[in-house]
Amino acid sequence: MSQDTASPASAPTADEMPMLGLGTWQNEDHEQCADSVATALEIGYRHIDTAQIYGNEAAVGDGIAQADVDRDDVFLATKVWISELAHDDVLESTEESLRKLGVDYVDLLYVHWPSGEYDPEPTLTAFDQLVDEGTVKRVGVSNFEPEHVDEAIDTLDADLFANQFECHPLLPQDELRAHCDEAGVNVVAYSPLARGKVFDVPEIQRVAEKHDVSEPAVSLAWLREKGVTAIPKATGEDHIRDNWTSLSVDLDDEDVAAIDAIDEREREVDPDFAPW
Ligand code: NAP
Repeated sequence: MSQDTASPASAPTADEMPMLGLGTWQNEDHEQCADSVATALEIGYRHIDTAQIYGNEAAVGDGIAQADVDRDDVFLATKVWISELAHDDVLESTEESLRKLGVDYVDLLYVHWPSGEYDPEPTLTAFDQLVDEGTVKRVGVSNFEPEHVDEAIDTLDADLFANQFECHPLLPQDELRAHCDEAGVNVVAYSPLARGKVFDVPEIQRVAEKHDVSEPAVSLAWLREKGVTAIPKATGEDHIRDNWTSLSVDLDDEDVAAIDAIDEREREVDPDFAPW
């Protein structure tokens, strides 16, 4: 069976957040990273994910400036690193992020991990202050377990918009996703390709062959079926375009069931300071 029509011009959205974004972790060469971002925006991506710790906020900002797309049409997210989570450090480091990115606001600012200097009250009141000032449109958290999510919701004045965590067919995170769904918190999947591990999984290969698409496209389409936003990292145009084709992949119930039935488990990101 051959696949489908051309990819759509835009991604579906979850509460105004495009459900397919571009990840940039380890896209460290300034020119390369700026090119990846500009290429993605020209293809149709409107969601870019970076973080203070990636060291590429200036390159991401240059990529946005290079592309023929209005900044206001881009959903831009960055993350405050664990050493910058004391109240005043959140304010100062975010100002620095905005300066590097060359923007007046970010659409989403995450607490990168509930670790290091994270302390719900001082950290999150600083996030609230940034929302009040208008330099941050939405508050997110990342790598939060259910109890951290509940504590953040109780502490924040602003709505908790999203929790970003590792999620892919080899780490489906059913309980954490259900918890976020019930709490009205959007789920953003990082490492949505399991950093390449999904490419060799026979069940995914079979679905990819059936739809005449790549394994990465299947992994991303499966996440979309679950209502999850995905931010695959891709550097060159081929990968960036290939991941965009996932938007026209329409998995049927049988495909989803086959992927749900995979029992292999892989966690790719597991630092010492992780809360699990
Ligand atoms: P990923 O997106 O699962 O995988 C990226 C790898 O897959 C790269 O080696 C990339 O190669 C390759 N790739 C991408 N598209 C491909 C395609 N169509 N065909 C073949 N290979 C392809 O892994 P990730 O970078 O860990 O996660 C994605 C993003 O999530 C990160 O970049 C970052 O923005 C975010 N993240 C957040 C956290 C957190 O703690 N919040 C942790 C990890 C990641 P090329 O680069 O050569 O294209």
